Amino acid sequence: MKIYETEAIIIGGGATGTGIARDLSLRGIKSILIEKDDIASGTTGRNHGLLHSGARYAVKDLESAKECIRENRILKKIARHCVEETGGLFITLRDDDPSYHNKLLEGCRFAGIKTEEIGIKKALVIEPNLNPEIMRAVKVPDGTIDPFRLTASNMLDAIEKGAQLFTYTKVTEIILNNSTVAGVKCISTAGEKFEIRCNILINAAGIWGQKICALAGIELKMFPSKGSMLIVDYRINSIVINRCRMPSDGDIIVPGDTVSLIGTTSKTIGYEKIEDLHAEDDEINILLKDGEKLIPALSKARALRAYAGVRPLVAISGEASGREISRGIVLIDHEERDRVKGIITIAGGKLMTYRLMAEMTSDMVCKKLKVNRKCSTHRLPLPGSEKRPPRNRGLKKFAGISQPVVKSTLYRHGIRVYNILKNDKKNYRIICECEMVTEGEIEYSINCLNVKNIADIRRRTRIGMGPCQGELCAYRVSGLLNDYGKASPEEAVNYLREFLEERWKGIKPVLWGDALRESEFTYWIYQGLLGLGEITKPEKPRKGKK
Ligand SMILES: Cc1cc2nc3c(=O)[nH]c(=O)nc-3n(C[C@H](O)[C@H](O)[C@H](O)COP(=O)(O)OP(=O)(O)OC[C@H]3O[C@@H](n4cnc5c(N)ncnc54)[C@H](O)[C@@H]3O)c2cc1C
Repeated sequence: MKIYETEAIIIGGGATGTGIARDLSLRGIKSILIEKDDIASGTTGRNHGLLHSGARYAVKDLESAKECIRENRILKKIARHCVEETGGLFITLRDDDPSYHNKLLEGCRFAGIKTEEIGIKKALVIEPNLNPEIMRAVKVPDGTIDPFRLTASNMLDAIEKGAQLFTYTKVTEIILNNSTVAGVKCISTAGEKFEIRCNILINAAGIWGQKICALAGIELKMFPSKGSMLIVDYRINSIVINRCRMPSDGDIIVPGDTVSLIGTTSKTIGYEKIEDLHAEDDEINILLKDGEKLIPALSKARALRAYAGVRPLVAISGEASGREISRGIVLIDHEERDRVKGIITIAGGKLMTYRLMAEMTSDMVCKKLKVNRKCSTHRLPLPGSEKRPPRNRGLKKFAGISQPVVKSTLYRHGIRVYNILKNDKKNYRIICECEMVTEGEIEYSINCLNVKNIADIRRRTRIGMGPCQGELCAYRVSGLLNDYGKASPEEAVNYLREFLEERWKGIKPVLWGDALRESEFTYWIYQGLLGLGEITKPEKPRKGKK
């Protein structure tokens, strides 16, 4: 069996794990990150992408509110190309408790979050689709953050500075020597088994953290809290809309790239259900019913897809009851808590506190490895955000390529756009019309961003995430995977099938009206025209190869 060696192993390629890989690399500590699927395929890829100002937590959880506003300001600087500074509004409706408005203003003042009360007329100018019967409106510095870009940029930087990444590789065993972690045993989806030896193991596996602890004989109780979200086919709002009440169902509408999404519900589920998440009919009905109270146009928009994620909540003490569940950041030194040396768990928190979580974890790693290097992730920009993106004069360098293509690529990759857009024919060929993705961008993601299949390319470029949900781009990308030597013809067809099946799971719960018509058209292309269903499935479907 092949054996690798490194200083730190990170389990989990979500925002937290990739953030840790970057932080450790910047401090000169070698790491290997292991992810059982693709990066950002866990909860990191299944949330609203709301860059909280902290106002949502200002009444109930001042500590989280303060964390959010601090990280909000940092991420706007270091992750410019992943963040859209949309701003946000808290809206009070006739049915809402009117005293909450003042509590929100007071909480924000304590947390240091800038607020501005605005008149209803002004609110309707800023956001014309708002319910005209709103009672009050408060402006806050909310924004949006793209979790896929954020995770990929963290990983890109970590790799450029010496970290290694194994995706589609699952940790199956933790190797222990006298209650000290010595490494892990892994298996890739291609069936390859290997070991990695390390000085320290970091469990950043989100909701799967409980299972990772169990591999080391440690008991950690996690409480999966499921939330469902719904995406509609255009940006019905240009800034984040929050309902001004205690956090509840269907009270956030977030614009993201070409679409908007409404969230979320909250349901405690059994731990065994974390592998089988999907939005259910009753949740979609709640989202539509409550969402249209904020923006009436929501119910008339075409629903594109629904999906669910699960919050990785941790019970702090051993004997867990509901009241002991923490919604904040939980960092556990298992040497202190469980007398097992060489393993740390980081869980809880939020997408937008990933950097802080990574800093706290890396500080603990440094202490254990006796390395005296400070964190720099709060000041060093991520790849793509090193400089402000070029404005009109800079854009002329791409003469010959249409401006919407240049702007979309710039929007997604920041100044790494220079690594992608060159004046060659690959950049004139549009592969995804909804999101303006060119062949050049697909080639870049295949060569530089650790992709194995079509779903991974979706996470790096947004192909298949726009209004047609992969109807026309999926088969083109499948062909390119073969053209660029990433897949044999059989594998490329299989990736296409897997991609469509995965997309179908999210489309199925919203199949009515135009969405149903669009699906029929997709079915007609892939089944009627291309005969995908007639092509025999390989015996052992392969999601990714190492
Ligand atoms: C409905 C909902 C809405 C949310 N909205 C927001 C929001 O708007 N803003 C915000 O800031 N936060 C939001 N959050 C919270 C945020 O999404 C999470 O806190 C964050 O994404 C967790 O990231 P993570 O990296 O810790 O975990 P994950 O992203 O889940 O990463 C863990 C990874 O570990 C991998 N893994 C597990 N077991 C193994 C193994 N054995 N071997 C190898 N790999 C393994 C998994 O595949 C997974 O990719 C929301 C959460 C939910 C559920």
